[in-house]
Amino acid sequence: MTMSRVETLVVGAGQAGLAVSHCLAERGGDHVVVERGRVAERWRSARWDSLRLITPNWMSRLPGWSYPGPDPDGYMPASELVSYLQGYADSGAAPVREGTTVELIETCTTGLRVVTDQQTWLARNVIVATGTENRAFVPPVAGGLAPGVHQLTASCYRSPRQVPDGGVLVVGASASGVQIADELRRTGRTVVISVGRHSRLPRHYRGHDIQWWLHRTGVLDQRIDQMRDARSARRAPSLQLAGLCRHRVDLEALAARGVVLAGRLAAADGWSVNFADDLPATTSAAQARMDRLLRSIDAFIANALIANGGTATGSTDTLPAFTAPPGPARLDLRRAGITTVIWATGYRSAYPWLRVPVLDRHGEIDHRRGVTSVPGLYALGLRFLHRRNSSFVDGVGPDARFVAAHLTRRTASRACLTARGR
Ligand SMILES: Cc1cc2nc3c(=O)[nH]c(=O)nc-3n(C[C@H](O)[C@H](O)[C@H](O)COP(=O)(O)OP(=O)(O)OC[C@H]3O[C@@H](n4cnc5c(N)ncnc54)[C@H](O)[C@@H]3O)c2cc1C
Repeated sequence: MTMSRVETLVVGAGQAGLAVSHCLAERGGDHVVVERGRVAERWRSARWDSLRLITPNWMSRLPGWSYPGPDPDGYMPASELVSYLQGYADSGAAPVREGTTVELIETCTTGLRVVTDQQTWLARNVIVATGTENRAFVPPVAGGLAPGVHQLTASCYRSPRQVPDGGVLVVGASASGVQIADELRRTGRTVVISVGRHSRLPRHYRGHDIQWWLHRTGVLDQRIDQMRDARSARRAPSLQLAGLCRHRVDLEALAARGVVLAGRLAAADGWSVNFADDLPATTSAAQARMDRLLRSIDAFIANALIANGGTATGSTDTLPAFTAPPGPARLDLRRAGITTVIWATGYRSAYPWLRVPVLDRHGEIDHRRGVTSVPGLYALGLRFLHRRNSSFVDGVGPDARFVAAHLTRRTASRACLTARGR
């Protein structure tokens, strides 16, 4: 196996890896990007067929790249985002080595040794940009289900056609869970959704997309050091939204379409499952969080109007107040005709190839703004890496710029020290 030297090696060619590659290229930094699949692999192979982004097209800004199309307020399908990111990589001739899997990263006397299935690299710097979906999380309760129950995770779900005939229990009611439950219900299947902590929001409010308000009011720019509990902020559920203009996927709308709402999945024994009696409490907590957020938007508008001497316009279109009644305590899957369980229960970190002491007790990369305690080792694209939107297409750019600048300064000061030592 050949051995090569490079100043900086980036692992992963999703939006984070491509953004930092662009920033390094701008600074003339020698680098390669290694990607086990193809550019934007997760958007190619870990998304369901009908998925559209829940962020509007204009919110796809990356360093030196932005949405050029005719529908800035629309929501692009995942396939369009693949072309968008491929175009980004091609525009700067990003040095991406596709089909190259990192198997080991360890420190060595000259910096970091990166073993891939193609070749070994000696790098001064490594940027881990492998995303937030390293491992789909399936709660231990899954182990109690009978072997005859078909199980799959949201990252493996493609379309209703792939799911065996019969009803479906979807576990998890964040963006993926509600969208998948809705799609399956619309094909006429029996669908039960098990609901845990979730984020209820209207798609539009006072004449704008809710994401526009989250951006304008600074919610997306909130920093991790402003959060009372960083770990819980990093685990906040994604929004119950779909990338469709007038189509609601909140729990009230799903229930109206015939989806059965249930509490958190508490136990499974063969074909029998038990739910916690927390549905009224979780839905009313989500309603309260939504009300608080919308009130803060109203206050923002009022302050802006006072400053400009204007009057309020735009309807206060929002979702009706919703607290779900208690759901079923127990469900016999066989009797209910349910053959499949889909786990839309999120992801966990997994870095089995990272043999560098930077993982905390939860297996997460310990860092400050992407800079780890191991000289030359950086991370990008993690949830709330620095700001709330750090793991979104639109949010990774500022982090990529910061990491590229930090790394370039480090390289320059090392070069300076080496020259002085001579
Ligand atoms: C269902 C879903 C919907 C989402 N919708 C939106 C949305 O609407 N708007 C938005 O802004 N964000 C959205 N996100 C969040 C975010 O934009 C995506 O998670 C995005 O894929 C993160 O980009 P990334 O570059 O950080 O990581 P990824 O896209 O995950 O890229 C990491 C890359 O690293 C590669 N890799 C991993 N391990 C190795 C290895 N050992 N060696 C080599 N390569 C490796 C992978 O193949 C992958 O291509 C969504 C996320 C999900 C899961």
